[in-house]
Amino acid sequence: MNKVEILKCSKCLRYTLKKECGVCSAQTLSTKPAKYSPQDPYGKWRLKYKAKYGV
Ligand SMILES: [Zn+2]
Repeated sequence: MNKVEILKCSKCLRYTLKKECGVCSAQTLSTKPAKYSPQDPYGKWRLKYKAKYGV
């Protein structure tokens, strides 16, 4: 399973996947999203995907 962590620049607040901001080179911080939220559209999508493909 490929886990992608979304990081946020501490300076210009852009979202990136890199540990360093590509715009201002500041250190990025983990956004640490909740593991599961009923309001999470990606969580819903994952459940649908799981039901359809059994992955
Ligand atoms: Zn930045």
